[in-house]
Amino acid sequence: MAYTITDECIGCGACAAECPVGAISEGDGKYVINADACIDCGACAGACPVDAPKGE
Ligand code: SF4
Ligand code: SF4
Repeated sequence: MAYTITDECIGCGACAAECPVGAISEGDGKYVINADACIDCGACAGACPVDAPKGE
């Protein structure tokens, strides 16, 4: 399963810069992960200041 970004996201963009497959983009009020591209590496969770990306 892909990671997802919760509503805790403050839109800083740090996760998008760290994603090795470019799966994260700016969405409506928060960043979103393309589930088809995500390889479950967890880099986004490590980069996020508010712990918004969640794995399964
Ligand atoms: Fe990108 Fe890895 Fe986060 Fe998936 S888990 S969105 S591949 S940084
Ligand atoms: Fe949102 Fe966290 Fe990504 Fe920043 S690093 S855009 S707060 S999910």
